[in-house]
Amino acid sequence: MDQADAGRATAKVADRDRLYIDGEWVTPLDALPMPVQDPATEEVVAHVPAAGSGDIDRAVAAARAAFGPWADLSPAARADHLDRLLAALTARAGQIAATIAIEVGTPFKVAQRVQTGLPLTVLRDYVALAREEIEPETIGNSLVFREPAGVVGAITPWNYPLHQVVAKVGAALAAGCTVVLKPAELTPLTAYLLFDAIDEAGLPHGVVNLVTGSGPVAGSALAAHPDVDVVSFTGSAATGAAISRLAADRIARVTLELGGKSANVILQDADLAKAVKVGVGNAFLNAGQTCTAWTRMLVHRSVYEEAVDLAATASSGYVTGDPFDPGTRLGPLVSERQRDRVRTYIDKGLADGARLVSGGPDATVPARGFFIAPTVFADVDPDDTIAQEEIFGPVLSIIPFSDDDQAVAIANNSRYGLAGGVWSGDEERALSVARRLRTGAVDINGGAFNPRAPFGGYKQSGVGRELGQHGLSEFLETKAIQR
Ligand code: NAD
Repeated sequence: MDQADAGRATAKVADRDRLYIDGEWVTPLDALPMPVQDPATEEVVAHVPAAGSGDIDRAVAAARAAFGPWADLSPAARADHLDRLLAALTARAGQIAATIAIEVGTPFKVAQRVQTGLPLTVLRDYVALAREEIEPETIGNSLVFREPAGVVGAITPWNYPLHQVVAKVGAALAAGCTVVLKPAELTPLTAYLLFDAIDEAGLPHGVVNLVTGSGPVAGSALAAHPDVDVVSFTGSAATGAAISRLAADRIARVTLELGGKSANVILQDADLAKAVKVGVGNAFLNAGQTCTAWTRMLVHRSVYEEAVDLAATASSGYVTGDPFDPGTRLGPLVSERQRDRVRTYIDKGLADGARLVSGGPDATVPARGFFIAPTVFADVDPDDTIAQEEIFGPVLSIIPFSDDDQAVAIANNSRYGLAGGVWSGDEERALSVARRLRTGAVDINGGAFNPRAPFGGYKQSGVGRELGQHGLSEFLETKAIQR
């Protein structure tokens, strides 16, 4: 057995034919098996049920029945349940990382550190937040209480299959809500491992339920369900709009974490080598399949050509290969469809006259698997398709600017507003540029990701926030009592 096969074996991937409803693994009412593919080998590695609206109905009914008792538990009792879940999940960390390397194609080391380590940190934070009693606020003659919002329908994407789920489920449970999860079709196996942990932790029946299936069938049944109070969605803007329409008919609350086209703004007094190196790493994390990816690198003209050379060199260090090979820095894209989509964008960049400085359609990649070479374009027009649309692949566009005002204008020339970076030797100047960016988060000089900071977008990047106290608040109602 070679190293990759040995790595894959640790995931213990197998067919799953049950759903988790009302605290039990149950047979779906009516479901066909849905294949799960390993994008590095192109092999189907398992099947899970593609459930329908009948199973969504069962799961929502279980979550509704569990809501009252769960909401009435003391914060300390809820936190104890979540603490046991954290322990059960932590015990599965190795298996989870290997499973994510298989179903997403994330290099194993990144799957360990980012895809598994980060959600464990987020869940630990939610255990701590769950333990805190929320004191009522006094406003004049009013006492203002925060109360659990009810039954949550959570619909999640494939790119960070544990983090996106924990960000919702951890917050909702900590807030006193109950949940039905519909994970992404491409990556359901990670969700099964989470529910193995939920089952082992012995959470009260019905508090959290799993229904796998397609977006148009199971996902839309959940978003449209009359007994779901909050729909919490992460995914594409188009699906976010469709879900909002479904929820609008019954005035249900919707939170949306959508796409991005974030700008990394490098001013002329920045530490250029560091700014470019970190910027390229950010753009190529998870093969560019990251909603916060800094896919536009904006560089001051005085250091522009130097930055282009540095980016091309950094890009060539992103070796493509099997996620379980320790030398791999860039895994495959998640699916053939996604790979073809990214190829189309690269062709469009060339057709629009951008200067290819690394990668591109003719660069060598492994013959088997859905790989794209890390690709860098320079001289990209800020209005061109590759500078405007979310590519969701390892494709970076470099754009020159002449002064801070122009940098801000180019950065804000986007329908999205999720994240961004600013680099300068003068932190006050960087802060002033960061404040002018119409985006939900900005990192100055590589400021570290903070899992307690509010996460979410302006404009078409979404509505609402996840993580920390702000994320928990999305699952609370507000009641004013006057005396
Ligand atoms: P997607 O919108 O196709 O799917 C996301 C989820 O929605 C899946 O579970 C899918 O089954 C479900 N879905 C699809 N159609 C549905 C429908 N009609 N009704 C109800 N549910 C439906 O997105 P994706 O391909 O899974 O993910 C990629 C996109 O998600 C990218 O655009 C990316 O930027 C975005 N994303 C955003 C964030 C964020 O936090 N802002 C995080 C990850 C991904």
